[in-house]
Amino acid sequence: MIIVMKEGASKSEIERVMQLLQSKGLGAHLSEGAEMTVIGVIGQKEKVRELGVEGLPGVEKVVSVSYPFKLASRPFHPDNTTIEILGHVVGGDEPTIIAGPCSVESKEGLIEIAQEIKASGAHMLRGGAFKPRSSPYSFQGLGEEGLKYLAAAREATGLAVVSEVMEPGLVDLVADYVDVLQIGARNMQNYALLKAVGKTDRPVLLKRGFSNTIEEWLMSAEYILSEGNPNVILCERGIRTFETYTRNTLDLNAIPVVQHLSHLPVLVDPSHGIGHSRYVTAMARAGVAAGAAGVIVEVHKKPEEAWSDGNQTITLEEFDRLAKQVRDTHRLVREYQLEASRS
Ligand code: PEP
Ligand code: MN
Repeated sequence: MIIVMKEGASKSEIERVMQLLQSKGLGAHLSEGAEMTVIGVIGQKEKVRELGVEGLPGVEKVVSVSYPFKLASRPFHPDNTTIEILGHVVGGDEPTIIAGPCSVESKEGLIEIAQEIKASGAHMLRGGAFKPRSSPYSFQGLGEEGLKYLAAAREATGLAVVSEVMEPGLVDLVADYVDVLQIGARNMQNYALLKAVGKTDRPVLLKRGFSNTIEEWLMSAEYILSEGNPNVILCERGIRTFETYTRNTLDLNAIPVVQHLSHLPVLVDPSHGIGHSRYVTAMARAGVAAGAAGVIVEVHKKPEEAWSDGNQTITLEEFDRLAKQVRDTHRLVREYQLEASRS
């Protein structure tokens, strides 16, 4: 259920509704937007009706959200969610550009990549220290040592850093070093992990599982939000289809669909989405053209020597061009959106 407050409802009116719900043991989530304030109450449809909230001063209406995800839904939070990370606003006026190697390798190499991508306009550095690999014999990541290199790269450049966490027991450790916790595709439905990152104050980059529906993805976001962490960034990274010339199929349909259903910002990962470096720039452009708030791409000084995902990793020079094209495309999309909102 969602309680929509009247435009201009006073603080004390809002407070009164919150207190009434809380005194009856109902979990109430307050969402204060630029235009309206709404209060989300999960489940308990009958109880809310019985309380007669609809008649309280300041209350416009009580509506039920038909989606299984509530806090992640657009009705709960009509404005787009924006998330500020080290001065950059995800979901804001500029497209978010995140780049870096698949795996954290050497400290010097990482700092060099960080400096180069920053010069090309990236906002954040990515790099896996704990790697989910299909084979137990493949490189599994440098672990905490890798996190230290990421922190050193942030120190050197001021870029925020993003890295994957794979187990609930490691969430605090990874959160100590990084600005954004990444939940990988393979862990999208690891509910213990989702709850654990939901208890932190770090923004979470939630990748879509390659066999998961949009609804399952938004339900996973709901796990994080319902633990009290409002800062979830969705990431479409490609789903499995019958196609074999590409690693995955970047599901661009998901971008406008998610934006309709949810207020959370959504990025695209064209590197994992298509899996071959030669196609990555085209799909980065396509993702932003579809309305994505930005991109996350794999970049390396020498992709052929990368310790993981070299095939889909672009060079620093290619990244420089990609970043420019993403900015240009994003600017054009914003103009179209503004035009549409005026007409
Ligand atoms: C990655 O970002 O390197 C990664 C493993 O991504 P995904 O979880 O999308 O496969
Ligand atoms: Mn990778």
